[in-house]
Amino acid sequence: MPSNDVMPGGERPQPEWIRDLTEQLPGVIFQLHRAPDGRMHFPYLAGSGTQLLGIDRHDLMQNALPVLECLDETDYPRLMAAIERSARWQRPITTKFRLKMAAGRQSWIALRAQPCRVETGILWHGVMIDISEQVVEEQRLRRLSDTDDLTGLANRRKLMQRLDEEISLSNRHALPLSLMMLDLDHFKSINDTWGHLKGDHVLERVAAHCRDMLREEDLAARLGGEEFALLLPLTAETHCQQLAERLRERIANHDFGIGPGEITVSIGIAEHRIGDTRETLIQRADDSLYAAKRRGRNQVMVGV
Ligand code: GH3
Ligand code: MG
Ligand code: MG
Repeated sequence: MPSNDVMPGGERPQPEWIRDLTEQLPGVIFQLHRAPDGRMHFPYLAGSGTQLLGIDRHDLMQNALPVLECLDETDYPRLMAAIERSARWQRPITTKFRLKMAAGRQSWIALRAQPCRVETGILWHGVMIDISEQVVEEQRLRRLSDTDDLTGLANRRKLMQRLDEEISLSNRHALPLSLMMLDLDHFKSINDTWGHLKGDHVLERVAAHCRDMLREEDLAARLGGEEFALLLPLTAETHCQQLAERLRERIANHDFGIGPGEITVSIGIAEHRIGDTRETLIQRADDSLYAAKRRGRNQVMVGV
């Protein structure tokens, strides 16, 4: 078929066996045409996936708009930009986006398409496949790889990633950002006296206290062993210090099943300074933490 022979609604008769075959495909194969005025339509659409949308495919053969209107609001401009780049540079489109389906469902769709110039504009030949299951699995694996097994808090890897993001925002927009480093006092002797399992239980409870203190945008992480970090965006040092005091007090007054006052923590705080990297910020919070240890533990130190 000469590809410059593409007109809106130009569905061509095709052998029945080809129609039977394409309708069985677990996805969609298509031609997408874009005219110089930007209007798009699907001269060809086939595959079992076309039924999922609940849009009559003959309408899409006239105008691609009904399917574009089903795109997630944040994905729409991204897909349009990908189409634009593909048209301009004659490079394949490889992307994924969310589509709003019937009954409030949402599907993740992977799109691969190859552009070519035709007399009437640009014509893409491509495939779309529903990848919702893979995306859910990816999200599950990502959550796992970001989570500390014992406490369910974020792990060190996740903290480092968020630190980079938040430091970059604070450097750009001069926004306050504070970091708390928390270490359990004399934890080795808690393990030695009460056993490792009891020690684990204490770590879980301390994590729960940390989590209780936080707003949605804060992040609590277990750095490893009996060390935790709390990252507080949009929080200045003085406010962070008040929170740290409350947390310290709560833990010191809590009965972890071995009598109140047996578990205490030392906390070091550092506030972001313009030009900080995550290493310099962590280093200052660590210095404060070790100052708190040197001064006798069960206390909060700031800005050492
Ligand atoms: P300090 O007040 O100076 O911090 O003393 P500390 O005893 O807490 O410090 P140290 O670093 O010497 O010991 C940390 C202990 O934490 C050693 C180890 O037995 C214990 N620990 C580390 N990870 C775990 C864990 O996952 N579970 C349990 N139960 N204990 C752990
Ligand atoms: Mg310790
Ligand atoms: Mg330690």
